[in-house]
Amino acid sequence: MAGPRILLVEDETSIAEPFARMLEREGFTASVAPTVARALELFAAEEPDLVLLDLNLPDGDGRDVARDIRARSRVPIIMLTARGTETDRVVGLEIGADDYVVKPFSAAEVIARIRAVLRRTAEPLVQEDAAEAEPLEIDELRIDRAARRVFLGEEEIELSRKEYDLLLELASHAGAVVSRDDLMARVWDVNWFGSTKTLDVHIGWLRRKLGDDAASPRWIETVRGIGFRFAAEEGEAP
Ligand code: CA
Repeated sequence: MAGPRILLVEDETSIAEPFARMLEREGFTASVAPTVARALELFAAEEPDLVLLDLNLPDGDGRDVARDIRARSRVPIIMLTARGTETDRVVGLEIGADDYVVKPFSAAEVIARIRAVLRRTAEPLVQEDAAEAEPLEIDELRIDRAARRVFLGEEEIELSRKEYDLLLELASHAGAVVSRDDLMARVWDVNWFGSTKTLDVHIGWLRRKLGDDAASPRWIETVRGIGFRFAAEEGEAP
């Protein structure tokens, strides 16, 4: 049986070729696209299980590839970014990439990331876990864990996968502080290293969607230097 299909979008053959061979040795099926045009063509033709995406391509910007793919698919996307380009990463995550690795990377590191992302996004696993899960309710907020849907009163809140995971992690510990490290480990990756700026970015989006005010929070309180606390049921001891 063929392993998960990986689309590697990378124009540098010195990276793409050995890395594609490494993926094949690890049991994946790999295709290489050196341009934006070829990436979109191969994506449509092969329906890969995961996309590894370089941002600087000879005929355009990898983020446009991510946007285009995200407009029609929830396929996991891992960006390959250059060192010291935090804005690129934040923008990449904002348009729906699932993770990123910084060049130069080791093949082992990227393969570990691929496996982690595929595990997290494997639907049967999620459904199995969620099938028995009762909705989580805190005042007018309701998280339907079986369907991964969130309601505020009657209104459904549309969340990205990461925003949902972050909300669930915080709301599952409502009334308690969850540390930044724990959030990074549980929502992103146990092997996360480096900047946690992405956490603040996602907290910001989550607050906006919940209509929350960071200065006077109804839902997500910043606990300076430590992490975040989600509001408990009103009237309950914090
Ligand atoms: Ca490149």
